[in-house]
This record gives sequence, C-alpha cells and structure tokens, in this order.
Amino acid sequence: MRCEYPRMEHDFASVEDMLQALQPIEPVYCVYPKVLSRVTREFLQGFPGTVMYAVKANPAPMVLRGLIAGGLCEFDTASVPEMEQVQEVMPDATCHFMAPVKLPGAAARAYSHHSVRSFVVDHESELERLLDELPGRDVDIFVRLAAHDSDAVYDLSTKFGAYPEQVIALLRQVQASGARAALSFNVGSLVLRPAAYLRALEQCQQVLKRAGVPVRKLDVGGGFPAWYPDVEARPVHEFFSAIGRFACAIDDSGPVELLAEPGRALVAEGMSVVTRVLLRKDGRLYMNDGVWGSFIEPVISKGLVRYPTRVYRQGRLLETRETIEFTLFGPTCDSLDVLPRPFPLPANIQRGDWIEFGNMGAYSLTNRTGFNGFYPNTFARLDSVDALPPAGATLEKEQ
Ligand SMILES: *Cc1c(COP(=O)(O)O)cnc(C)c1O
Repeated sequence: MRCEYPRMEHDFASVEDMLQALQPIEPVYCVYPKVLSRVTREFLQGFPGTVMYAVKANPAPMVLRGLIAGGLCEFDTASVPEMEQVQEVMPDATCHFMAPVKLPGAAARAYSHHSVRSFVVDHESELERLLDELPGRDVDIFVRLAAHDSDAVYDLSTKFGAYPEQVIALLRQVQASGARAALSFNVGSLVLRPAAYLRALEQCQQVLKRAGVPVRKLDVGGGFPAWYPDVEARPVHEFFSAIGRFACAIDDSGPVELLAEPGRALVAEGMSVVTRVLLRKDGRLYMNDGVWGSFIEPVISKGLVRYPTRVYRQGRLLETRETIEFTLFGPTCDSLDVLPRPFPLPANIQRGDWIEFGNMGAYSLTNRTGFNGFYPNTFARLDSVDALPPAGATLEKEQ
C-alpha cells in the first residue's frame, strides 16, 4: 500500500489562524518549512561529509519540500515506494538503498528506474542475491557492521549488522565482485552522546586494518538526537566534530568520504501535531489522537520522549497560570491507547480545547495505523518567519 497524502494543502500564518479557519475535529499536522530548512542547512553545513535524509522518519511531501529548500538532495530509502515518494517531489533526487533486507526484484528496479548506485548488506545471502539482480557493478555496496551502544535510546543492533569477522569476509566478496566496497553502521536512534559513534568508528578502524580492502566510503548511519524535554542529549555539532576528528585518521591507505543518514535530527523540530480534547474526566484527558496515531514514540521510548505543548481555546492561545499533570488517552477503544507518562497541562483545560505538541516531526505520522477508523491526515503549512513551534525548543536549549 502506498501512503496517500491529501492533495489539498492549507497555508496559514499561525496555528491560531488555522484553528479559526478549520475548527478541526481531526488532528492536524502543522508543518513549519522555515524551521525544517534552517535545521537542514545547519546539519549540511556542520556534518563533515554527505548527508542522506532517512525518509522513514517523515515522508510527507510538505516536509520533504522543507528539507529540500534547506539544500538537501540525497535520501536514504528502504524500498521502491519510498524512492517514488521522494522522486515525485524532487525528480533528480539521489536515492540510496540502505536497507539490509529488500524485496526480491527491488534492487534491480532501484538500479534501473531510480538510478540507485548505493546498496547495503549484512549477510552473504543478501549479497549473493543483490549481485544476481544488479545489471552493473558501478555501485557502492556498504557492509553494515553491528554496532550497539547503551548511549542510544533505541538499539538497532539486535536486528541488523554483521560481526567483524563476517564484515571482513563480505568486504572481500564485494571487492571480488567488481563493485566498490564500503562500510556502514547504525548505533541506534536518539543517540545521546557522540562517544557512541566513536566506539563504532574504532570497530570500523580495526576491521579496515584487517580486511585489506580499499574502502573509500564510511556511512555512520542515523541516530543523531533531537531535543525533547527531559532527554539529556548533547547538541549535534558535538557529534559532528567528534566524528570528523576521528574519521580523518581512520585509514592509512587514503581519504575516506563520510556519509550520514539522519532522520529524526532533521525533521523533529519542524512539525507539530494539534490534537483536540474530546473528554475530560478529572486528571484524564481523551484526545482525538493517541498511540495508534501519532504518539507511538512515548510508548516505545518507555515514557522518555515527551513533547513541549501549547493549549488553545476557541482558536486563541490559552494563557497558562497553573499546570497539573494529565494522563492522555487516545480515541480508540483499545486499553493500550494511553501515553505512559502524564503531561503537565493547564489546570483549567476542558473539552473542545486544542493541544499543540511540538517536536513531533519524527516517527509520528509514519506510525499512524487507522485503528478503529482514526487516521490523522490533515496538513497545515505555517510558512511565515514568525511561526514557531511550541517552546522554540532547540533555541531555548542552546542559549
Ligand atoms: C531509521 C534509520 C535511520 C534514521 O535514524 P534516526 O534515528 O531517525 O536518525 C538511518 N539509517 C537507517 C538504516 C535507519 O534504519
């Protein structure tokens, strides 16, 4: 199934204008293109190599256009439909096929229809199939090293990645095939400290020393943090300088081009979700969006991820004097549809009010399910320089 995005796009100067015009009953994704472009520009300027956006974090066309306006033109895609989504918005976008498990025929199609020339593998069976499918050898084949780190909120290493011995064997097989051998890893998602990347880079260095295969590209994956209240992550520029310094000297045999696949770090800040309060029962609020819609991340992070909020009443920002902690439920009939930790919200919040949750650009709309018929799919663009998402999170943090 292709995810369908609404053709109709609404433009507003502010969330208040949007609320007054639409009086939305369903959740609204508020996209801040200026924020997306600024964050992207800063990432592109700061990261010492090539930046591919991990499309799965947020593939909405309006969001992709915000990133492209910030200078982005390379994309980490995991399927042919993702390549189509990207190239619909930007026909000459460069897509990379960075998923270690692919549908049969997908690599061949990516090569011939989407000009893809980078692929990743973490097992010899997948390499064998990839080489069978590809019509040419003018490709970079990245071998993905398993890297796991306790500094990552989400660990990916139990699913993907090969151990050093296997990596060395795979790099040699790639080289023997006539393709260019390259190396990649992913330390996880929402990585809190740069040291996690340095530990993985050290493993890469060991592998390179032993493999005896020229490797000119090193992909450090995604995982760069975004700001959330209570999450103590170092700012991304510290990751850039640490990675850049280490990678300079990683291989004696020649220069290595660095690549990164940020998802969350590019999109988190530039999109909010405006939900509506359907029912209040004392300290419990029932909203029109929940964990089967845009709010799975608070659950899978075991409550660590929360969002800054703003509350609106009758289309106007509600001045908050006193806050209390509310338990937030989604609209489905499922008992799991509740956020794991309460959110501080105005004590006088009531039915009909809207709550804007900031920093929701990453892994919110990607995880919508349609459970019980609730499927948020309304988008509003707030393209004015004055439009800022709740709490101007990053700015506040860095000052
Ligand atoms: C999900 C994913 C990313 C992006 O991760 P973030 O934590 O959002 O930066 C990058 N690369 C691969 C292969 C992924 O699966």
